[in-house]
Amino acid sequence: MSKKIYLYGNWKMNMTAAETEEFFKNFNYASDDKVDIAVFPPFTSIWAAHKAAGSGVHIGAQNCYVEPKGAFTGEVAIGMLKECGVSHVILGHSERRHIFGESDELVAKKVKACLDNDLVPVFCYGEKLEEREAGKTFDVMERQIKAALNGLTPDEIAKIIYAYEPVWAIGTGKAATSAQAEEVCAWSKKLINEIAGKDVKPVVLYGGSVKPNNSKELLSMDAIDGALVGGASLKQDTFIEIYNAYAK
Ligand code: PEP
Repeated sequence: MSKKIYLYGNWKMNMTAAETEEFFKNFNYASDDKVDIAVFPPFTSIWAAHKAAGSGVHIGAQNCYVEPKGAFTGEVAIGMLKECGVSHVILGHSERRHIFGESDELVAKKVKACLDNDLVPVFCYGEKLEEREAGKTFDVMERQIKAALNGLTPDEIAKIIYAYEPVWAIGTGKAATSAQAEEVCAWSKKLINEIAGKDVKPVVLYGGSVKPNNSKELLSMDAIDGALVGGASLKQDTFIEIYNAYAK
């Protein structure tokens, strides 16, 4: 057990500001050389998280817009997020792609806008069940990854955190097997390095029904650097236990 683990919690549309304060009561965990911890509350709870979390927990947003201000009703600018303590932004999450129709091109613009403004993009990609069953898993992901990295420098490519999230595993309780996740994460690293033209040592997380009872096996895989956790990140105990189960 020597690698650093990324433990990132996507709260989705859960957790009010009051619930966020409650979550961080007696939260005695901080990022160090063994673990990097981030939570991604809904916009309205970001400020509460920033105030309550302490400096050892990165605060992220679940989305952003690419323009700095103006007539974009319902959107939130990167500068606004930074003012509230945000350092990371989840982009390309399957719920944004498939419920809200975000295209590869829009996701790519958001990735670039975050990089230009010193925010860490947590770039999500992954195939739907029918795409896996049709043998299209790698074609779909290659399209998603190439679109997001188009025109970026190797330094920029290295700053992104990548999250492989098979759509069929998100919120279903049916995680990918450690072999399936490892296969894709290893393949992703190779592709990212090829696009960059050198080894940028990409950080690749797995996400999709990660729980304390499967995290040890998943996080022990060579190419998996951490977990992007949805449901199990809403409770302090289960969130931290995902890391502890591995570290023990
Ligand atoms: C997610 O939403 O990014 C996610 C991985 O969700 P869950 O852990 O609930 O499957």
